[in-house]
Amino acid sequence: MSFHVRRKDREITDPAEMRQVLLNTKYVTVALCMQDEPYLVSLSHGYDQAKNCIYFHCAPEGKKLAYAKANSKVWGQAVLDFGVTEECDYAYTSVHFKGTLSLISDLAEKQHAMEVLVRQVSLNPEEKLAKLKLEKLDRTTMGRIDVTYMSGKKHQSPKA
Ligand SMILES: Cc1cc2nc3c(=O)[nH]c(=O)nc-3n(C[C@H](O)[C@H](O)[C@H](O)COP(=O)(O)OP(=O)(O)OC[C@H]3O[C@@H](n4cnc5c(N)ncnc54)[C@H](O)[C@@H]3O)c2cc1C
Repeated sequence: MSFHVRRKDREITDPAEMRQVLLNTKYVTVALCMQDEPYLVSLSHGYDQAKNCIYFHCAPEGKKLAYAKANSKVWGQAVLDFGVTEECDYAYTSVHFKGTLSLISDLAEKQHAMEVLVRQVSLNPEEKLAKLKLEKLDRTTMGRIDVTYMSGKKHQSPKA
């Protein structure tokens, strides 16, 4: 079954505009499913535009990793929230994405992933990255979601 954004006037069709949402949000919310049981987590993220993937870090164990191990397919959302408009509408731009979640074992990729993540979520990334220790990073669990599909929708004040 195939679905599309029903409100064509609100649909974002330009992939570059969708990518901007993933680049300008601090976290994504990711839905997982295992044996017909749903689960959902928010994850601070860094979006790598060139690789079209989302990087995150997390604890080495727990429910979301058990779910991801059982079923690596995820659905997610990133939202730019503009709040209530003067017309009492709610203004937002959001992107839905589908992807495959995997853990990163290669240290060089972990380093790249951490750089992408810190640059996106931190106010002073270079200071934070200068303190990064490779031995500690090697022990840090980092994951990647390879994005295979995106849809976008915006609902903004006509005055915006
Ligand atoms: C803005 C934001 C950014 C975040 N960034 C990250 C990140 O970068 N990396 C990361 O690992 N996590 C992040 N979190 C936390 C994340 O959303 C999950 O809470 C966490 O990853 C849960 O991991 P788990 O499934 O292994 O937890 P577990 O402890 O294994 O979960 C067990 C049970 O605890 C409950 N639970 C777990 N998390 C929550 C929760 N947040 N609220 C209420 N109940 C909960 C659920 O009932 C779940 O069934 C972020 C949360 C927010 C709101």
